[in-house]
Amino acid sequence: MWKCAKCGREFKAEGQHHFCSAPINTVDEYIAQFQDDKKAVLEKVRAVIHEVAPRATEKMAWRMPTFWQGENIVHFAAMKNHLGFYPGENGVEHFKDSLTEYRASKGAIQFPYTKPIPYDLIAEITKFRVAEVESRKTK
Ligand SMILES: [Zn+2]
Repeated sequence: MWKCAKCGREFKAEGQHHFCSAPINTVDEYIAQFQDDKKAVLEKVRAVIHEVAPRATEKMAWRMPTFWQGENIVHFAAMKNHLGFYPGENGVEHFKDSLTEYRASKGAIQFPYTKPIPYDLIAEITKFRVAEVESRKTK
């Protein structure tokens, strides 16, 4: 095994080419790596989710900012050309009529930066996920 001195990841081949960066452990660190325009989007999404999911906590999961409340409620991530939003399969399915102008697949939605980011819709989907998680808990 070869361990990259910069990022601490281990690889089979010495000098293995990889996306080398320090591990990102917090949502703050995640957001800090982007340029201002993407930072602004990420901070807004984060604030919107906090507002509708006040009992959820933030963490990094799958290398993405994640809101957790007994389980992962939603993830989001700044991709090159879109904001990725990951509310689980039910989250996408339940809102599919509102998502016709976006690329959406199982559990994942792409909001391109070329259109206004629909923060209200993100809030609605997150609320749905919170309700889903909380109803499961009381069963
Ligand atoms: Zn490295």
